[in-house]
Amino acid sequence: MDFDPLNFSDISVYAGEEYVNAYNSITTPIIQTSTFVFRNSQDIDNYTHGINMRYEYGRYGNPTQTAAEKKLAALEGAEEAVLFSSGMSAITTTLLALLRSGDHIVITDDAYKKTLEFCKTALPQYGVESTVVSVHDYEAMEAAIRPNTRIFFSESPTNPYLNVMDLERLSKMVAGKNIYLISDSTFATPYNQRPLELGVNIVIHSCTKYLAGHNDLLAGVVLGPSALIGPIRDFHKMMGGVIGPFTSYMLIRGLKTFALRMQRFNENGQKIAEYLEKHPRIQNVYYPGLPSHRYCELAKRTMRGFGAVVTFEVDADYDGTRLFLDRLQRLRIGPSFGGVESLITHPASVSYYNYAREERLALGIKDNLVRFAAGIEEAEAIIEDLEQALSVLK
Ligand SMILES: *Cc1c(COP(=O)(O)O)cnc(C)c1O
Repeated sequence: MDFDPLNFSDISVYAGEEYVNAYNSITTPIIQTSTFVFRNSQDIDNYTHGINMRYEYGRYGNPTQTAAEKKLAALEGAEEAVLFSSGMSAITTTLLALLRSGDHIVITDDAYKKTLEFCKTALPQYGVESTVVSVHDYEAMEAAIRPNTRIFFSESPTNPYLNVMDLERLSKMVAGKNIYLISDSTFATPYNQRPLELGVNIVIHSCTKYLAGHNDLLAGVVLGPSALIGPIRDFHKMMGGVIGPFTSYMLIRGLKTFALRMQRFNENGQKIAEYLEKHPRIQNVYYPGLPSHRYCELAKRTMRGFGAVVTFEVDADYDGTRLFLDRLQRLRIGPSFGGVESLITHPASVSYYNYAREERLALGIKDNLVRFAAGIEEAEAIIEDLEQALSVLK
Protein backbone atom coordinates (compact mmCIF):
# COMPACT_ATOMS: atom_id res chain seq x y z
CA MET A 1 0.00 0.00 0.00
CA ASP A 2 1.25 3.47 -0.88
CA PHE A 3 1.22 6.29 1.62
CA ASP A 4 1.00 10.01 1.13
CA PRO A 5 4.54 10.93 2.26
CA LEU A 6 3.25 13.75 4.46
CA ASN A 7 0.39 11.86 6.03
CA PHE A 8 2.39 11.04 9.12
CA SER A 9 -0.50 9.61 11.12
CA ASP A 10 -1.29 7.08 8.42
CA ILE A 11 2.37 6.11 8.06
CA SER A 12 2.93 5.94 11.83
CA VAL A 13 0.02 3.59 12.32
CA TYR A 14 0.21 1.34 9.26
CA ALA A 15 3.50 1.49 7.35
CA GLY A 16 5.91 -1.43 7.50
CA GLU A 17 3.40 -3.84 9.01
CA GLU A 18 1.41 -6.71 7.49
CA TYR A 19 -2.30 -6.25 6.80
CA VAL A 20 -2.93 -9.37 8.89
CA ASN A 21 -0.18 -10.90 11.00
CA ALA A 22 0.48 -14.44 12.24
CA TYR A 23 -2.53 -15.85 14.14
CA ASN A 24 -4.58 -12.95 12.71
CA SER A 25 -2.96 -10.61 15.19
CA ILE A 26 -3.44 -6.90 14.46
CA THR A 27 -0.07 -6.12 16.07
CA THR A 28 3.28 -7.16 14.64
CA PRO A 29 4.41 -10.15 16.73
CA ILE A 30 7.59 -10.10 18.79
CA ILE A 31 9.62 -12.92 17.22
CA GLN A 32 11.69 -13.52 20.34
CA THR A 33 14.34 -15.80 18.91
CA SER A 34 18.09 -15.73 18.40
CA THR A 35 18.06 -18.27 15.57
CA PHE A 36 15.81 -19.48 12.75
CA VAL A 37 15.76 -23.16 11.91
CA PHE A 38 15.78 -25.03 8.58
CA ARG A 39 13.55 -28.03 7.85
CA ASN A 40 16.25 -29.83 5.87
CA SER A 41 19.27 -29.32 3.65
CA GLN A 42 17.11 -28.36 0.66
CA ASP A 43 15.62 -25.60 2.80
CA ILE A 44 19.16 -24.33 3.48
CA ASP A 45 20.01 -24.38 -0.23
CA ASN A 46 16.83 -22.47 -1.09
CA TYR A 47 17.90 -19.82 1.37
CA THR A 48 21.59 -19.59 0.43
CA HIS A 49 20.73 -19.46 -3.29
CA GLY A 50 18.25 -16.64 -2.72
CA ILE A 51 15.18 -18.69 -3.74
CA ASN A 52 13.56 -18.24 -0.31
CA MET A 53 13.83 -14.91 1.47
CA ARG A 54 13.88 -15.71 5.19
CA TYR A 55 15.80 -15.11 8.38
CA GLU A 56 18.83 -17.05 9.57
CA TYR A 57 20.31 -15.63 12.75
CA GLY A 58 19.26 -12.80 15.06
CA ARG A 59 22.26 -10.56 14.51
CA TYR A 60 21.50 -10.50 10.75
CA GLY A 61 17.88 -9.47 11.18
CA ASN A 62 14.55 -10.34 12.75
CA PRO A 63 10.99 -9.90 11.40
CA THR A 64 9.99 -7.48 14.19
CA GLN A 65 13.07 -5.38 13.45
CA THR A 66 12.23 -5.41 9.72
CA ALA A 67 8.73 -4.05 10.38
CA ALA A 68 10.18 -1.23 12.51
CA GLU A 69 12.77 -0.44 9.83
CA LYS A 70 10.13 -0.28 7.11
CA LYS A 71 7.97 2.04 9.19
CA LEU A 72 10.90 4.35 9.85
CA ALA A 73 11.91 4.34 6.16
CA ALA A 74 8.34 5.28 5.19
CA LEU A 75 8.33 8.12 7.73
CA GLU A 76 11.63 9.51 6.46
CA GLY A 77 10.80 8.98 2.78
CA ALA A 78 13.94 6.84 2.52
CA GLU A 79 14.48 3.75 0.40
CA GLU A 80 15.90 1.77 3.31
CA ALA A 81 16.51 1.93 7.06
CA VAL A 82 18.72 -0.11 9.37
CA LEU A 83 18.24 -0.20 13.13
CA PHE A 84 20.87 -0.25 15.88
CA SER A 85 20.95 -0.75 19.63
CA SER A 86 21.44 3.00 20.23
CA GLY A 87 21.92 6.27 18.40
CA MET A 88 25.65 6.14 19.11
CA SER A 89 25.88 2.62 17.69
CA ALA A 90 24.21 3.93 14.52
CA ILE A 91 26.64 6.85 14.27
CA THR A 92 29.88 5.00 15.03
CA THR A 93 29.02 1.98 12.87
CA THR A 94 28.11 4.24 9.94
CA LEU A 95 31.34 6.24 10.20
CA LEU A 96 33.50 3.12 10.49
CA ALA A 97 31.67 1.47 7.59
CA LEU A 98 32.24 4.38 5.23
CA LEU A 99 35.68 5.70 6.24
CA ARG A 100 39.08 4.26 5.30
CA SER A 101 42.50 5.00 6.70
CA GLY A 102 43.75 8.22 5.10
CA ASP A 103 40.26 9.72 4.81
CA HIS A 104 39.12 12.97 6.39
CA ILE A 105 35.86 14.04 7.99
CA VAL A 106 34.43 17.51 8.61
CA ILE A 107 32.08 17.93 11.58
CA THR A 108 30.45 20.96 13.16
CA ASP A 109 31.48 22.10 16.62
CA ASP A 110 28.18 21.75 18.42
CA ALA A 111 27.45 18.22 17.24
CA TYR A 112 26.38 15.69 19.88
CA LYS A 113 29.16 15.46 22.46
CA LYS A 114 29.91 11.75 22.05
CA THR A 115 29.91 12.02 18.25
CA LEU A 116 32.51 14.79 18.47
CA GLU A 117 34.51 12.77 20.97
CA PHE A 118 34.46 9.77 18.62
CA CYS A 119 35.73 11.90 15.72
CA LYS A 120 38.40 13.58 17.81
CA THR A 121 39.72 10.63 19.84
CA ALA A 122 38.73 7.32 18.19
CA LEU A 123 38.92 8.02 14.44
CA PRO A 124 42.57 9.20 14.51
CA GLN A 125 43.49 5.74 15.83
CA TYR A 126 42.27 4.33 12.51
CA GLY A 127 44.09 6.93 10.42
CA VAL A 128 41.10 9.22 9.90
CA GLU A 129 41.59 12.91 10.57
CA SER A 130 38.74 15.21 11.49
CA THR A 131 38.29 18.96 11.24
CA VAL A 132 35.83 20.61 13.61
CA VAL A 133 34.24 23.77 12.19
CA SER A 134 31.91 26.38 13.65
CA VAL A 135 28.26 25.63 12.97
CA HIS A 136 27.83 29.29 11.96
CA ASP A 137 30.75 29.60 9.54
CA TYR A 138 29.99 28.27 6.03
CA GLU A 139 33.21 29.70 4.60
CA ALA A 140 35.24 27.77 7.18
CA MET A 141 33.23 24.63 6.30
CA GLU A 142 34.08 25.02 2.64
CA ALA A 143 37.71 25.75 3.44
CA ALA A 144 37.91 22.63 5.62
CA ILE A 145 37.07 20.33 2.70
CA ARG A 146 40.15 18.52 1.36
CA PRO A 147 40.64 16.13 -1.57
CA ASN A 148 40.51 13.21 0.91
CA THR A 149 37.34 14.42 2.71
CA ARG A 150 34.84 11.56 2.54
CA ILE A 151 32.20 12.65 5.04
CA PHE A 152 30.62 15.94 6.03
CA PHE A 153 28.79 15.28 9.27
CA SER A 154 26.12 17.77 10.23
CA GLU A 155 23.49 17.91 12.91
CA SER A 156 20.39 20.08 12.87
CA PRO A 157 19.00 21.50 15.03
CA THR A 158 21.86 21.23 17.48
CA ASN A 159 22.09 20.76 21.20
CA PRO A 160 21.64 22.82 23.36
CA TYR A 161 21.26 26.06 21.34
CA LEU A 162 19.00 24.68 18.61
CA ASN A 163 21.20 26.08 15.86
CA VAL A 164 19.73 25.20 12.49
CA MET A 165 21.97 24.27 9.58
CA ASP A 166 21.30 25.12 5.96
CA LEU A 167 21.34 21.54 4.67
CA GLU A 168 20.60 22.61 1.10
CA ARG A 169 23.62 24.89 1.13
CA LEU A 170 25.77 22.09 2.57
CA SER A 171 24.62 19.66 -0.08
CA LYS A 172 25.58 22.16 -2.81
CA MET A 173 28.93 22.69 -1.08
CA VAL A 174 29.86 19.00 -1.18
CA ALA A 175 28.28 18.22 -4.58
CA GLY A 176 30.58 16.46 -7.06
CA LYS A 177 33.32 15.98 -4.45
CA ASN A 178 32.69 12.30 -3.62
CA ILE A 179 31.63 13.29 -0.10
CA TYR A 180 28.76 11.74 1.85
CA LEU A 181 26.66 14.39 3.54
CA ILE A 182 25.31 12.84 6.74
CA SER A 183 22.87 14.57 9.05
CA ASP A 184 22.01 13.63 12.61
CA SER A 185 18.37 14.67 12.49
CA THR A 186 17.40 13.51 15.99
CA PHE A 187 16.24 16.99 17.07
CA ALA A 188 14.24 17.53 13.87
CA THR A 189 12.58 14.12 13.31
CA PRO A 190 11.09 13.22 9.91
CA TYR A 191 7.98 15.15 10.96
CA ASN A 192 9.72 18.51 11.18
CA GLN A 193 12.42 18.21 8.53
CA ARG A 194 13.07 16.24 5.33
CA PRO A 195 16.88 16.12 5.01
CA LEU A 196 16.89 13.65 2.08
CA GLU A 197 14.80 16.12 0.07
CA LEU A 198 17.32 18.86 0.88
CA GLY A 199 20.20 16.82 -0.58
CA VAL A 200 21.48 14.93 2.46
CA ASN A 201 22.77 11.44 1.56
CA ILE A 202 22.32 9.66 4.89
CA VAL A 203 20.04 10.55 7.81
CA ILE A 204 20.67 9.29 11.34
CA HIS A 205 18.36 9.44 14.33
CA SER A 206 18.64 8.45 17.93
CA CYS A 207 15.22 6.74 18.13
CA THR A 208 15.63 6.97 21.90
CA LYS A 209 14.22 10.51 21.70
CA TYR A 210 11.13 11.59 19.72
CA LEU A 211 10.72 8.48 17.56
CA ALA A 212 10.28 5.96 20.37
CA GLY A 213 8.98 8.80 22.50
CA HIS A 214 8.39 7.18 25.90
CA ASN A 215 11.73 7.44 27.72
CA ASP A 216 11.79 3.65 27.88
CA LEU A 217 14.25 2.36 25.27
CA LEU A 218 17.46 3.06 23.39
CA ALA A 219 17.71 2.65 19.61
CA GLY A 220 19.26 4.30 16.57
CA VAL A 221 18.45 4.28 12.86
CA VAL A 222 20.34 5.06 9.65
CA LEU A 223 18.31 5.90 6.54
CA GLY A 224 18.99 6.57 2.88
CA PRO A 225 19.22 4.92 -0.53
CA SER A 226 19.74 1.13 -0.47
CA ALA A 227 23.07 1.50 -2.30
CA LEU A 228 24.43 3.30 0.79
CA ILE A 229 22.49 1.50 3.51
CA GLY A 230 23.44 -1.99 2.21
CA PRO A 231 27.16 -1.70 3.02
CA ILE A 232 26.35 -0.12 6.40
CA ARG A 233 24.00 -3.02 7.19
CA ASP A 234 26.71 -5.52 6.24
CA PHE A 235 29.25 -3.79 8.48
CA HIS A 236 26.65 -3.68 11.28
CA LYS A 237 26.45 -7.51 11.08
CA MET A 238 30.11 -7.57 12.13
CA MET A 239 29.91 -4.81 14.72
CA GLY A 240 26.86 -6.46 16.22
CA GLY A 241 25.10 -3.60 18.03
CA VAL A 242 21.66 -5.00 17.17
CA ILE A 243 18.36 -3.72 18.52
CA GLY A 244 16.59 -6.97 19.49
CA PRO A 245 12.98 -8.02 18.79
CA PHE A 246 11.41 -6.76 22.00
CA THR A 247 12.90 -3.28 21.65
CA SER A 248 11.84 -3.28 17.99
CA TYR A 249 8.28 -3.97 19.11
CA MET A 250 8.42 -1.20 21.71
CA LEU A 251 9.65 1.15 19.00
CA ILE A 252 6.80 0.17 16.66
CA ARG A 253 4.34 0.74 19.52
CA GLY A 254 5.87 4.13 20.31
CA LEU A 255 5.79 5.14 16.64
CA LYS A 256 2.03 4.56 16.39
CA THR A 257 1.48 7.91 18.13
CA PHE A 258 4.47 9.68 16.54
CA ALA A 259 2.42 12.18 14.53
CA LEU A 260 0.11 12.99 17.45
CA ARG A 261 3.04 13.46 19.80
CA MET A 262 4.95 15.67 17.37
CA GLN A 263 1.95 17.99 17.01
CA ARG A 264 1.85 18.36 20.78
CA PHE A 265 5.63 18.63 21.13
CA ASN A 266 5.72 21.44 18.56
CA GLU A 267 2.85 23.27 20.27
CA ASN A 268 4.33 22.86 23.73
CA GLY A 269 7.81 23.94 22.61
CA GLN A 270 6.44 27.14 21.09
CA LYS A 271 4.15 27.97 24.05
CA ILE A 272 6.85 27.37 26.63
CA ALA A 273 9.46 29.31 24.66
CA GLU A 274 7.06 32.26 24.43
CA TYR A 275 6.22 32.05 28.13
CA LEU A 276 9.89 31.94 29.16
CA GLU A 277 10.87 34.79 26.84
CA LYS A 278 8.38 37.07 28.60
CA HIS A 279 9.40 35.99 32.10
CA PRO A 280 11.31 38.68 34.04
CA ARG A 281 13.66 36.12 35.63
CA ILE A 282 14.72 34.59 32.31
CA GLN A 283 17.53 36.24 30.36
CA ASN A 284 17.75 34.48 27.00
CA VAL A 285 15.62 31.84 25.35
CA TYR A 286 16.84 29.70 22.44
CA TYR A 287 14.07 28.25 20.31
CA PRO A 288 13.94 28.35 16.49
CA GLY A 289 10.25 29.28 16.56
CA LEU A 290 11.02 32.60 18.30
CA PRO A 291 11.77 35.58 16.04
CA SER A 292 14.69 36.35 18.39
CA HIS A 293 16.44 33.08 17.46
CA ARG A 294 19.46 33.41 15.20
CA TYR A 295 18.07 30.85 12.73
CA CYS A 296 14.34 31.54 12.97
CA GLU A 297 14.06 32.47 9.30
CA LEU A 298 16.02 29.45 8.06
CA ALA A 299 14.06 27.19 10.40
CA LYS A 300 10.74 28.55 9.13
CA ARG A 301 11.89 28.01 5.56
CA THR A 302 13.20 24.46 5.97
CA MET A 303 11.25 22.97 8.87
CA ARG A 304 7.61 22.40 9.63
CA GLY A 305 7.89 22.70 13.41
CA PHE A 306 10.64 23.11 15.97
CA GLY A 307 10.09 20.43 18.57
CA ALA A 308 9.88 20.44 22.34
CA VAL A 309 13.39 21.42 23.42
CA VAL A 310 13.75 24.97 24.73
CA THR A 311 17.06 26.21 26.12
CA PHE A 312 17.26 29.25 28.35
CA GLU A 313 19.34 31.24 30.80
CA VAL A 314 17.95 31.93 34.23
CA ASP A 315 18.58 35.27 35.92
CA ALA A 316 20.65 33.54 38.61
CA ASP A 317 24.13 32.20 39.32
CA TYR A 318 25.18 28.53 39.35
CA ASP A 319 23.62 27.81 42.75
CA GLY A 320 20.49 29.82 42.04
CA THR A 321 19.94 27.87 38.84
CA ARG A 322 20.25 24.60 40.75
CA LEU A 323 17.83 25.91 43.38
CA PHE A 324 15.29 26.61 40.62
CA LEU A 325 15.59 23.00 39.39
CA ASP A 326 15.31 21.64 42.93
CA ARG A 327 12.08 23.56 43.45
CA LEU A 328 10.27 21.84 40.55
CA GLN A 329 7.49 19.63 41.81
CA ARG A 330 6.23 17.70 38.82
CA LEU A 331 8.87 18.22 36.13
CA ARG A 332 11.68 15.69 36.41
CA ILE A 333 15.37 16.49 36.35
CA GLY A 334 17.23 14.34 33.84
CA PRO A 335 19.01 14.20 30.48
CA SER A 336 17.38 13.24 27.18
CA PHE A 337 14.26 14.64 25.48
CA GLY A 338 11.47 13.64 23.14
CA GLY A 339 9.58 11.43 25.59
CA VAL A 340 6.07 11.87 26.93
CA GLU A 341 7.39 13.14 30.29
CA SER A 342 9.00 16.57 30.41
CA LEU A 343 12.68 16.62 31.38
CA ILE A 344 14.88 19.45 32.52
CA THR A 345 18.65 19.51 32.78
CA HIS A 346 21.40 21.86 33.92
CA PRO A 347 24.26 21.14 31.48
CA ALA A 348 26.88 22.75 33.75
CA SER A 349 26.11 20.22 36.52
CA VAL A 350 25.67 17.18 34.27
CA SER A 351 27.41 16.88 30.89
CA TYR A 352 30.10 19.39 31.82
CA TYR A 353 30.51 18.70 35.54
CA ASN A 354 34.15 17.69 35.13
CA TYR A 355 35.18 20.69 33.02
CA ALA A 356 37.11 23.62 34.42
CA ARG A 357 34.66 26.54 34.60
CA GLU A 358 36.64 28.64 32.09
CA GLU A 359 36.75 25.75 29.63
CA ARG A 360 33.03 25.17 30.01
CA LEU A 361 32.24 28.86 29.52
CA ALA A 362 34.43 28.91 26.41
CA LEU A 363 32.20 26.14 25.02
CA GLY A 364 29.16 28.36 25.64
CA ILE A 365 27.84 26.39 28.61
CA LYS A 366 27.02 29.12 31.10
CA ASP A 367 26.37 28.61 34.83
CA ASN A 368 22.72 29.55 34.38
CA LEU A 369 21.99 27.57 31.23
CA VAL A 370 19.03 25.19 31.41
CA ARG A 371 17.69 22.82 28.76
CA PHE A 372 14.02 22.05 29.02
CA ALA A 373 12.37 19.29 26.98
CA ALA A 374 8.60 19.42 27.05
CA GLY A 375 6.60 16.23 27.23
CA ILE A 376 3.00 15.83 26.05
CA GLU A 377 1.39 17.34 29.16
CA GLU A 378 -0.80 20.43 28.81
CA ALA A 379 1.51 23.43 28.33
CA GLU A 380 -0.41 25.24 31.08
CA ALA A 381 0.49 22.53 33.62
CA ILE A 382 4.16 22.70 32.66
CA ILE A 383 4.12 26.49 32.93
CA GLU A 384 2.51 26.32 36.35
CA ASP A 385 5.38 24.22 37.71
CA LEU A 386 8.04 26.37 36.03
CA GLU A 387 6.35 29.50 37.40
CA GLN A 388 6.29 28.33 41.04
CA ALA A 389 9.92 27.16 40.81
CA LEU A 390 11.05 30.45 39.26
CA SER A 391 9.35 32.35 42.06
CA VAL A 392 12.09 31.10 44.40
CA LEU A 393 14.49 33.43 42.60
CA LYS A 394 12.71 36.63 43.61
C1 LIG B 1 20.80 11.21 22.14
C2 LIG B 1 21.48 11.62 20.89
C3 LIG B 1 22.44 10.79 20.29
C4 LIG B 1 22.83 9.47 20.87
O1 LIG B 1 21.79 8.56 20.87
P1 LIG B 1 21.67 7.35 21.94
O2 LIG B 1 20.43 6.68 21.52
O3 LIG B 1 21.65 7.97 23.29
O4 LIG B 1 22.91 6.53 21.74
C5 LIG B 1 23.03 11.24 19.13
N1 LIG B 1 22.73 12.43 18.58
C6 LIG B 1 21.83 13.26 19.14
C7 LIG B 1 21.54 14.57 18.51
C8 LIG B 1 21.18 12.88 20.31
O5 LIG B 1 20.31 13.71 20.88
